[in-house]
Amino acid sequence: MTTRPGLPKNTVQNDLVRPDWAITNFRRDLAFPRLTEEMVQRLRSYGREKTFPGRFTLFTYGSTAADMFIVLRGGIDVFKPAPAGGERITGKHRRYEFAGEFNLLNSQGAVVEARTTCKTTLLCIAKDDLPRLMRAEGDIANLIVQAAIWRRINLLNDGASGVVLTGSSNDPAVTELRRFLIRNSYPHRFEEATESNTTHDILPNVRLSDGRLISRPAISALADELGITELPRTNTVYDVAVVGAGPGGTAAALYAASEGLRTIIIEGLAPGGQAGTSSKIENYLGFPMGISGQELASRAQLQALKFGTHFAISRQVVSVKSTNGMHTLALDGGTKVCSRSVVVATGAQYRRLAVEGFERYENCGLFYAATPMEAILCQGQDVLVVGGGNSAGQASIFLSGYARHVFHVVRGESLESSMSQYLISRIESSSKITLCTGCDVVALEGDATLQRVAWTHRKTGERINRAIRHVFVMIGAEPNSGWLFGTVLLDTKGFVLTGGNEGFERTPYCTNVPGIYAIGDVRAHSVKRVASAVGEGSVVISDVHRYLNGAFTTI
Ligand SMILES: Cc1cc2nc3c(=O)[nH]c(=O)nc-3n(C[C@H](O)[C@H](O)[C@H](O)COP(=O)(O)OP(=O)(O)OC[C@H]3O[C@@H](n4cnc5c(N)ncnc54)[C@H](O)[C@@H]3O)c2cc1C
Repeated sequence: MTTRPGLPKNTVQNDLVRPDWAITNFRRDLAFPRLTEEMVQRLRSYGREKTFPGRFTLFTYGSTAADMFIVLRGGIDVFKPAPAGGERITGKHRRYEFAGEFNLLNSQGAVVEARTTCKTTLLCIAKDDLPRLMRAEGDIANLIVQAAIWRRINLLNDGASGVVLTGSSNDPAVTELRRFLIRNSYPHRFEEATESNTTHDILPNVRLSDGRLISRPAISALADELGITELPRTNTVYDVAVVGAGPGGTAAALYAASEGLRTIIIEGLAPGGQAGTSSKIENYLGFPMGISGQELASRAQLQALKFGTHFAISRQVVSVKSTNGMHTLALDGGTKVCSRSVVVATGAQYRRLAVEGFERYENCGLFYAATPMEAILCQGQDVLVVGGGNSAGQASIFLSGYARHVFHVVRGESLESSMSQYLISRIESSSKITLCTGCDVVALEGDATLQRVAWTHRKTGERINRAIRHVFVMIGAEPNSGWLFGTVLLDTKGFVLTGGNEGFERTPYCTNVPGIYAIGDVRAHSVKRVASAVGEGSVVISDVHRYLNGAFTTI
């Protein structure tokens, strides 16, 4: 681990805390675009001109209601605290440039501050008028989204913006909080606890940009504090409530919102779902070099935000009740969401390893995803990957770039029937991966953290013991459908039954409850892939339209 000059000594360099999509060359031209005269003329109908006589603060850290400010005359400086005290200018907006980043598209609190530099005239567009602008002015909307992406990349790369998470990197609570911040692309830095704060503070804690300290925050409380969650409006009836922001759900929300439906997406953790935990997706159309799940998820979220989708992040849906065409979703924490239709896109989650004591090591040695965050933890060490599917294969290849050696344990006698050939070839040709077929993991041992692993060969009974402190488990998935028990029909494994059966509306994605649809990995017999989940998410919205217009067909 290295530290960046200028940051406190125990600050871990940003490679650990920024998502991998942020590790890229900064594009200033895309981050700070200049609008044309004609664009500014069009924008005048959305806002009003205002002159500030001198230096005036336009928004401060945490402001959730900042307008969009376009400079007509004068200038805006954007700044954040410098590590050594004082402030550091991160951007200067001049004629026809605009201030704001992610916070223009959602209710996230600002992570920088902005003020006019001198006598300045701005075109101010109220936040409530932005969704209308984003829908109607496609070319300008694209510039705003692009600027939001690149400004966020700049903030993530910088490492001095956002919140500071302090704790021990071996603490599972720290891993959970870091994963949450990374997967939501929230600027932050991690500080390893020192002796003094281990004694005096309740760890982990998060220092907010206004200096407040929150100790051991629950994910939902942190999400609310940072404005990552947009809480559902209690007096609103949505046209579509999408449950789950994996690739399928995000596609459904994007299509619904872009077609003018009032759309909310409710997500238990972070956008991206299973795909968001993939180090590289190489079989998704349009990305010949592959794309990390995190990047795909962030881009998809912005695209959905652009069309006005409401994202309620870090809220689990715990039940749904349907009466007279109205569906009421109950969220953990007690909030209720009313919607005329529901798209279930809750996907699946990885099976746990059936080895005694596995819970003890979850997030402190035992992982269900192999992203850059986990990879850096096991740099230069031996690791174990368990599973015979594509995700396990990808993990082995990815981790072999960081680990000293990867042992890959599979129950079956070969990978042929469960893994794509391109992955098998790469595993076989790698000198850093040892494939152990026909084996079962039988023991996980250690103290506070995992230290040793054992596996046995099924036929010979040979037992292999190794000092391995990081195990990646990818042994198949179970549907996230517990919240639907007793409401919609499920198959014996818990996948949601859709379409075609007797009494069902005649569309591939409808469940037995009119107005509730299911797509992606949670749906029985679906193809468990990113592209198919995205495809189903986009197609289902035409069924939803017909349902809402009262034009669906029943058998
Ligand atoms: C490591 C890994 C690598 C993969 N690599 C590839 C690949 O290279 N190519 C490929 O095509 N496929 C790949 N897959 C499979 C692919 O990711 C899935 O098929 C795809 O993500 C399914 O999308 P989905 O939207 O149906 O569900 P998911 O991606 O599972 O998303 C479901 C979302 O719903 C949320 N959720 C669950 N329950 C609730 C609830 N009650 N309330 C609110 N939210 C809830 C979850 O938090 C999650 O975000 C990979 C999977 C993994 C795990």
